[in-house]
Amino acid sequence: MTADPAPDWDTLAATVAACERCELHQGRTQTVFGVGARRARWMVIGEAPGQEEDRTGEPFVGRAGQLLNSMLEALGMRRNEVYIANILKCRPPNNRDPKPGEVSCCEGYLARQIELIGPQIMLCVGRIAAQNLLKTQTPIGKLRGQRFSYGPQQVPVVVTYHPAYLLRTPAEKRRAWQDLLFARRVFEDASA
Ligand code: URA
Repeated sequence: MTADPAPDWDTLAATVAACERCELHQGRTQTVFGVGARRARWMVIGEAPGQEEDRTGEPFVGRAGQLLNSMLEALGMRRNEVYIANILKCRPPNNRDPKPGEVSCCEGYLARQIELIGPQIMLCVGRIAAQNLLKTQTPIGKLRGQRFSYGPQQVPVVVTYHPAYLLRTPAEKRRAWQDLLFARRVFEDASA
């Protein structure tokens, strides 16, 4: 992060837009900060922008984004009610996995977004998002179905598959639906 350890929203957004902390800034069209309600009760955390996201500046706008929207709708939520952000704000070349150094350059940004939003639940989609947010190497199959906590505010975290994986492996959609129902129960407990 920059000199200001706790920037307000606009300062944070400007800092991210100008960020050159890792080499990914060289290949980006633009940063992808996040989208949605600044007071959202649900946050969705993904991996990193892809080609469409790099082009438009908005997370989850490609095919995986369409499926994410449907997953949210299945829970009775519209996309603009939640806040969607990624572990990385810049697109890795050829959509390769984020490098640990890139994640550490970016993680203060996401941490501050989470602090400012104060969600009641975070849904991590995919292994990369889950392992980096939770600081674990545990495989996604073992992370599903559990309630984790993030940060000093102890925000509940639930893990499910990445929508891009579900597009490739539709048979897993049934498990993803179980995860979403579990997430809703965790959310209801947290907000009771
Ligand atoms: N996949 C992600 O993890 N994030 C995006 O923004 C788009 C695709």
